[in-house]
Amino acid sequence: MNKFKNFVEDIILSVKNRLFSSKYIIKGKCRQCGECCRNILFSNENGYVKDEETFKLMQKKHLIYRFFSPNGKVTKEGDELEGAILFKCKHLKNNRCKIYLFRPIFCRDYPAANPKFIEMGGTTLDNCGFSFGVDKSFKNYLK
Ligand code: SF4
Ligand code: SF4
Repeated sequence: MNKFKNFVEDIILSVKNRLFSSKYIIKGKCRQCGECCRNILFSNENGYVKDEETFKLMQKKHLIYRFFSPNGKVTKEGDELEGAILFKCKHLKNNRCKIYLFRPIFCRDYPAANPKFIEMGGTTLDNCGFSFGVDKSFKNYLK
C-alpha cells in the first residue's frame, strides 16, 4: 500500500512540476514528520491571521477552518509575518493525516513552488523532505 502511495505521490509531484512551475521545481520526498500540519499560516485580504477575532470570522464563513487551532506564533521581528499565528490540525494523529483521501486542497498543495514566495527567500519548513530547485539544465546556465 505504501509503495503504491509513494508511486502515486511521485506522479503527482512530476505533474505539478510540469504544469504549475515554469522556473522552479519541487524536489525530494515527504518524511512524514507532520510539521506542515502543525505550523500552518492562514491569511485573508488583510494579511496573515494575527488575532482570534479574525480567525473566528473565517471559521464562520468557511467550516474548513474549524479543523485548526492555535499552536504558536511567529516571533521573527520586522517582517510581515511577525505576530502571525501558527495553527495545527485536529486530523493529525501520530504524524499521519486521518482524512488523507479527503484532505483539503491547500493540504494537497504543500509545498507549492510559488515563484514570488521563493524569490523573497521562501523555503519549505525546516527538516521538510521537500525543497525548491531551479528547473534549468547545466547547459542553460552557460548560455
Ligand atoms: S513538513 Fe515536509 S516532510 Fe514533513 S510531513 Fe510536511 S511535507 Fe512531509
Ligand atoms: S487535513 Fe490532513 S493533511 Fe491537512 S492539515 Fe490536517 S492532518 Fe494535515
